[in-house]
Amino acid sequence: MLDNKKIKLDFPIFESYPDLAYLDNAATSQKPQVVIDAIGEYYRKYNANIHRGVHHLSDESTQVFEDSKKTVAEFFGAKVNELIITRNATEAINGVAYGWALSNLKKDDLILTTMMEHHANIVPWQEICQKTGCKLEFIKVDENGKLDLADLEAKLKTHGAKIKLITLAHVSNALGTINPIEKIVKLARKNNPQTRILIDGAQSAPHLKIDFTKLGADFYAFSGHKMLGPMGVGGLIVKAGLLKNGEMKPWLFGGGMIDSVATAKTIFNEDLSERFIAGTPDVASIYGLAKACQYLSKIGMKNVEEHDRKLVRYALEKLGEIKELEIVGPKNASDRLGSVTFIYKNVHAHDVAQVLDKENIAVRSGHHCAMPLHTQFDWQATIRASFNVYNDVNDIDKLVTALRGVKTIFS
Ligand code: PMP
Repeated sequence: MLDNKKIKLDFPIFESYPDLAYLDNAATSQKPQVVIDAIGEYYRKYNANIHRGVHHLSDESTQVFEDSKKTVAEFFGAKVNELIITRNATEAINGVAYGWALSNLKKDDLILTTMMEHHANIVPWQEICQKTGCKLEFIKVDENGKLDLADLEAKLKTHGAKIKLITLAHVSNALGTINPIEKIVKLARKNNPQTRILIDGAQSAPHLKIDFTKLGADFYAFSGHKMLGPMGVGGLIVKAGLLKNGEMKPWLFGGGMIDSVATAKTIFNEDLSERFIAGTPDVASIYGLAKACQYLSKIGMKNVEEHDRKLVRYALEKLGEIKELEIVGPKNASDRLGSVTFIYKNVHAHDVAQVLDKENIAVRSGHHCAMPLHTQFDWQATIRASFNVYNDVNDIDKLVTALRGVKTIFS
């Protein structure tokens, strides 16, 4: 169990906005004091560029950077040299596109993704298809908002070894659906052990204990800002083997990542993840992210998950009682995580969100960067309430009361 009331005190935003029901966590989470303090502490006590100086402060800063990377990698059950620091999940996915796909895919190879993806996991692949001549196919999502595994199996059977990459969200930001990654990895490997698998973990990292090794995927992308960390930092975890054999290559080049540069040739850093640091990284944010990982670990990711599941169950039940609402995505609480999305029949999602805002309730309305999914179901826009450790059932009660009031405004 998680001491939700005590946890909320760690988040200064709620001192500024004591009445706020912040239910827009899938877009970005709030930050605990330890994370906010870490940014200031870095600039007060450690600020110097890393790896390049021989002076004492540069050493200190390098140590902060290395220790922070180790903390973050351990949080995800990865080795430190499997972690490439990026700005966010979008950059991490683009890293796989430009650092792996561009040099490993060719004409008529196939990338499989799903109809429930965030645009960050669609648009880079469309670009790669244009550049290489490979093709992109979408695994169907069924009427209940779950991935159609029969369609995946049919596609594996039809296309066999032509499928070079399967890339999908662990948890959908638009539906909350949890995808059965370990099962999908097994099916894909059985079809072709060489198929690479990329998990978009933007919405799973904040709520689930991730063990990269156990997950069995080749790549895992995440954003720090959705998991209580600062904006501007995230990561791509890559199986060490793909870095060692050079299958995964750097996609940005410059100083920092090199051993030596001559006019004719550059020799890159031996250290696998250092090889991916082109230019000066945002050390303060990485330090902040490490503090967020420590904060979550202290609560315990099992407790974080349990708390989230409790809120999802409660929200499904209470929102399900409002007859003007249509809940989208899985109806069974155990199939979803992090959010509940719905449509208010005959009232536009943005109008509903504005009414809620007047009541100090922050939700997200729109297509949630998942336009293909919204097109498939013919949804103009949906409303998403998403949760984190500081939310409690009172936030959901407040949402339910305000939603009941929407009818009187628009009737
Ligand atoms: N994937 C998913 C599933 C997301 O929910 C998001 C953010 N909404 C992203 C990718 C992109 O995250 P970022 O904007 O932090 O790169």
